[in-house]
Amino acid sequence: MKVESYLAGRWVFGAGEGTPWQDPATGEVMARTSTEGLDVADAFEHARNVGCANLAKMTFHERAKILKDLGAALGEHKEALYEASFHTGATRADSWIDIDGGFGTLFSYASRGTNEMPNARVAVDGGVETLSRDGSFVAQHIYTPRRGVAVQINAFNFPVWGMLEKFAPAFVAGMPVIVKAAAQTAFLTERAVRLMIETGLLPDGTLQLLAGPAHDVLDHVRSQDVIAFTGSSATAQRIRTHPRVVACNPRVTAETDSVNCTILGPDAEPGTPEFDLFVQEVTNEMRTKAGQKCTAIRRVLVPGACADDLAQALTAALAEIRVGNPRSESVQMGPLVTAAQAASVVEAIDRLAQVCDVLVDGRACPEPIDALQGGAFVGPTLLRARDALAEVVHDTEAFGPVCTIIAYASQDELVDIVRAGDGALVGSVFSADEAFVGGIVSDIASYHGRLLIANRHTAKSSTGHGSPLPVLVHGGPGRAGDGEELGGVRGIYHYMQRTAVQGTPDVLSAITGRWVRGAQTVEPDVHPFRIPFHELETGATFRSAEREVTLEDIEAFAHLTGDIFYAHMDEAAARRNPLFGGRVAHGYFLVSAAAGLFVDPPYGPVLANYGIDGLRFTKPVKPGTRIKVRLTCKSKSLRAGRGYGEVAWDTEITDQDGNVCASYDVLTMVSELAVPDGGS
Ligand code: NAP
Repeated sequence: MKVESYLAGRWVFGAGEGTPWQDPATGEVMARTSTEGLDVADAFEHARNVGCANLAKMTFHERAKILKDLGAALGEHKEALYEASFHTGATRADSWIDIDGGFGTLFSYASRGTNEMPNARVAVDGGVETLSRDGSFVAQHIYTPRRGVAVQINAFNFPVWGMLEKFAPAFVAGMPVIVKAAAQTAFLTERAVRLMIETGLLPDGTLQLLAGPAHDVLDHVRSQDVIAFTGSSATAQRIRTHPRVVACNPRVTAETDSVNCTILGPDAEPGTPEFDLFVQEVTNEMRTKAGQKCTAIRRVLVPGACADDLAQALTAALAEIRVGNPRSESVQMGPLVTAAQAASVVEAIDRLAQVCDVLVDGRACPEPIDALQGGAFVGPTLLRARDALAEVVHDTEAFGPVCTIIAYASQDELVDIVRAGDGALVGSVFSADEAFVGGIVSDIASYHGRLLIANRHTAKSSTGHGSPLPVLVHGGPGRAGDGEELGGVRGIYHYMQRTAVQGTPDVLSAITGRWVRGAQTVEPDVHPFRIPFHELETGATFRSAEREVTLEDIEAFAHLTGDIFYAHMDEAAARRNPLFGGRVAHGYFLVSAAAGLFVDPPYGPVLANYGIDGLRFTKPVKPGTRIKVRLTCKSKSLRAGRGYGEVAWDTEITDQDGNVCASYDVLTMVSELAVPDGGS
């Protein structure tokens, strides 16, 4: 019953009996929260002193591995979370989004952290910038974790996913996290955090929980902290203008409410697959979590000619939704999270009803199945705007199962209606007319964080309007808070500081652990391809012998590959080409010939060449040119537990006068063993 906070390594409950919270379907008191008198300042100190230090010892890959193990361990206990989740009013299907969706985010960040971040403590952003003619002064943008606390302030509606989708990228980045859970559903966040702590996988100080109000949390922030807020725009404003936030300038990102729209294209008339999909999607979005999703559809924009048909189809579909106690298997939509939330939704419907016709009225929800009559239930509610641009329709977020149909007369009017929402997390367009979609997307994209285009071709594969995905950006401009979360590795960088570092190539190599052109090289006694992963030094270089490129080589390559492009095969035509002025070697021949010059053939630690990055042909090579290659170990990233690591080799092909003809990175897998797998 008592929902505890986890601060500085201890589970604690605040002063007094705490605020009681009722199950919204049964009315039973099932939790009490109190954060009164808890030592929030100490929690911040613990995160800064202990959490930061523990995370700083690990590489991105080591932290990503912990996330993966954590996801697996949580998966074993998920039934306990599903059981508790009924108390939020969620059906099992709703809880899947919150609970399994949250675990999915952990796995996604574990994978991104391993595959797209280096096995290092510093990440680089972009290439090296040359700042002087002689190459002695260069610059590199780097990312390092902010040396503060990632403070999450979460909304009530996704107590598990909301916590994990912010925790995962912050943890991989290297920032300790303090979660401030929303009071109404803190009991579920507490269970998830308790399970996470009990795994023993998380280093001390890296995750703490404030299970309830704790509105003094911002009094303790400092400049290196990151505040990641999710909730209403009104609270976001209070956070942004908090005196401590104004004084210290921590990074603030806000995901707030938005009046998301979905658009039915003019081609999607009744009888088309798009019309049916549209009806299905709007119904799903209203039913899922009883519409308590920041991404749910609020405005349904339809061509005027279809509005009556759509109203009829939606009215029929909504009548099928079975509302009641989420524990009952026949129930498809549960109550809202609390009676107060239900009251605020009814109030919003009242406001909308002043400018709309009410087609389906859920304000007095009839007989919820197997539940307390008069619990926190609001039935599906469908309205139709009398005036497409009435302000209240675009301003009012009824955070429940409520949608408004708005008819548009032309594409120009449609754009005005969309923009009247003043920025949203997500929008969707249902149309199979690519010309219409192309036009509308370019007109409305800047008002959205994500746009879903749906039609008959995506019917089976689409993830739906309302699902944020870990690999895609979540957040939106204007009213939606102008924040950004997730988006694959972009989400990790939100918790890191980008710094431009200027200096010599040697200094930058030392800082980043990556060899920078112009830095010192070493030429080992043996070919670098004979050196196992751990012994290989960045800067280790091989310089090849020369090879002349002949006309016979060019013709043989052309006939072998079938690439008989005129620039290689037709002297007269090649002479007319302003870039070549005569026949030249194939670029791909040069890359192949370079491999012939630099490889060391016998079996050894180099297991595979898995690609080339940044290939540029910088000077045409004519027959008679003598080329040679420099190959330098540029960067290494161990794939822990796999027995090998990735090694990128900075490669340059030059001619007899030292001109660079081609440059690229050769990407290889190099074994930890000199003679892998017992070969000889
Ligand atoms: P809310 O009232 O704004 O509360 C959000 C969080 O802010 C809660 O944890 C709340 O704590 C905390 N809070 C309130 N005042 C605070 C203060 N002065 N200082 C520090 N923290 C403070 O929103 P909600 O009712 O929980 O959630 C519903 C709203 O969130 C809807 O408008 C919805 O659209 C939006 N939402 C947006 C997203 C998104 O990703 N964009 C996702 C979900 C929900 P207490 O609960 O302890 O008061």
